[in-house]
Amino acid sequence: MSNTMGKQLGHVLLDQTGGDGGISEELLHRQGILDDSVPVRPGSKAEADTLSCNHCGGVVVLNPLRKRPRTMCHLCMRYICDLCASRAKDTDYLHRTIKDVMEMVSSGKWALAGGSSLVNPILVPVQTGSFK
Ligand SMILES: [Zn+2]
Ligand SMILES: [Zn+2]
Repeated sequence: MSNTMGKQLGHVLLDQTGGDGGISEELLHRQGILDDSVPVRPGSKAEADTLSCNHCGGVVVLNPLRKRPRTMCHLCMRYICDLCASRAKDTDYLHRTIKDVMEMVSSGKWALAGGSSLVNPILVPVQTGSFK
């Protein structure tokens, strides 16, 4: 019995009952919650489960109305978001989880190249000292 999805599950309350002051799409994006189009209109309230992507670390709000299947990465056996799922289909895709990327960056030996995102991380070696 494995329950690897369990750790990735979260929960979010989308409260739009305050009218225009509620959660805007922009705020969701700023908080790193990627749009999975949860149908919350101003003046209403909805609760939704969230899943965090094991590749880019993005949090996806699960749209209860969504019928499309969600992607499980067959390499790390975790949920991955749509963006990472389509990226993973590329022939030059290098499998890295968010943890791998974070560990590489925090080791100080690698840095995220400018313009790359966590969906498509480009890691460049950090030159230290002896390089001329
Ligand atoms: Zn992702
Ligand atoms: Zn994976």
